[in-house]
Amino acid sequence: MNIYLDIDGVLRGTASPVEDVVDLLEFILTNYPDSTFWLTTHCRQGYNHTRAALLDSDLPKELVERASSMIQPSDFSVLKTEGIDFTKPFLWLDDNLFESEQKVLESHGCLINHFYMNPRDPEMAKRALALLKSLKEENANIY
Ligand SMILES: [Mg+2]
Repeated sequence: MNIYLDIDGVLRGTASPVEDVVDLLEFILTNYPDSTFWLTTHCRQGYNHTRAALLDSDLPKELVERASSMIQPSDFSVLKTEGIDFTKPFLWLDDNLFESEQKVLESHGCLINHFYMNPRDPEMAKRALALLKSLKEENANIY
């Protein structure tokens, strides 16, 4: 499964405690080391400013460096959905979904693959981690 990860409102600028965001990011890096991609305005049209964005957060520096070296860039110009590989199963963690992006997801039958990260919900990072863990278990049972 590919993971697409936003930064603002998801890894920083969220009401979730930083410990929970760390747990979420650690789980992603451990379980999806080769299939996690940035899908954020900090990484588009050929430039990647994700490391600088993350260094400007409360996340531990060591984790920022590890995430920066492991998570791969995606590319889009207008809609984030341009950066998604629809031929593979994926989960997209983002705090915002434009109507136009929603339409693209719907056209692929993939609306359910977008997980809304409410930045004002202090339980958000915990909830996302619980979802990822349940998906992992489901896959373990299938394969
Ligand atoms: Mg965002």
